Amino acid sequence: MPVNFLGSPPPNSKPQRKWWSKETVAVVTGSNRGIGFEIARQLAAHGLTVVLTSRDECVGQEATRVLREGGLDVAFHQLDILDPSSIQLFVDWIRQTYEGIHVLVNNAGVNFNVGSDNSVESAHMVVATNYYGTKNMIKAMIPLMRPSAVGARIVNVSSRLGKLNGRRNRIDDLNLRRKLGDLDTLTEELIDGTVATFLQQVDDGTWTSGGWPQTFTDYSVSKLAVNAYTRLMAKTLSDRPEEEKIYVNCYCPGWVKTAMTGWAGNISVEEGADTGVWLALLPDQAVTGKFFAERREVSF
Ligand code: NDP
Repeated sequence: MPVNFLGSPPPNSKPQRKWWSKETVAVVTGSNRGIGFEIARQLAAHGLTVVLTSRDECVGQEATRVLREGGLDVAFHQLDILDPSSIQLFVDWIRQTYEGIHVLVNNAGVNFNVGSDNSVESAHMVVATNYYGTKNMIKAMIPLMRPSAVGARIVNVSSRLGKLNGRRNRIDDLNLRRKLGDLDTLTEELIDGTVATFLQQVDDGTWTSGGWPQTFTDYSVSKLAVNAYTRLMAKTLSDRPEEEKIYVNCYCPGWVKTAMTGWAGNISVEEGADTGVWLALLPDQAVTGKFFAERREVSF
């Protein structure tokens, strides 16, 4: 049963107490289109300074121009979350331009399966982008996250397909599920080892009997890793001193009409972005290491 820890505000209701200003800097990865673009738009509309990022410079500039023409305070910088030199240039630019950031939304992601197709042809790219790309960004940006009384925030855009204990789509191995689900046994090595085992089985052709999630297998494994890493980072970062807290949560946007779903989703990008923006703007609630959908906490 989903736990509704903050009540259930109607979708698109105003976020809570305003703690941010135009000095508050939010970075959104993969924000040239889709849910990321809409998260950037909504955060800028709330009055934050948003850094729109895109791996393609021209496309990103164009997306930024659209938001600026709408009167929003949006800057642009190129960022490919798979390219260490692009990440380093981005980090250097952020440091020089803003000194640091307050909000990081890890939205960039890929999926190559459509409909009932379940190819793992692109499994390496899917895991690299969705899991390792997200992890790269978290590691690169943590030193740049500004100390604040309300805490800095990281929001990872994930998916219910990555649920550890999903009823229909989960890892068969109960022992592995238990280890991944228990913060006492959850480690970065365990998460990396799990995705490495999956990719090894993809390479040697044995993955179909490996007990992996049945639907969009590579994507589900990648998002399961994102969810687990969210919990792990939240625990690790909770040791920081009070004024340097960083809260890390993830959420599922639902099935959204974007390029990723071939525009076959059942909700709009506005609705898909809503919970991410709400999490980024939570007041001082110290909510961390949780998984959300439709502004409600759901189980991993
Ligand atoms: P889109 O395909 O529309 O957008 C994905 C974005 O990620 C694009 O901007 C894309 O850039 C970017 N991207 C991909 N790889 C990289 C990279 N290496 N570096 C930087 N940016 C990159 O998909 P959505 O908007 O639907 O998806 C956004 C997020 O939401 C993803 O994490 C996805 O997994 C998640 N999600 C989506 C759901 C849906 O129903 N749509 C459901 C559940 C989760 P480019 O334009 O250059 O390709």
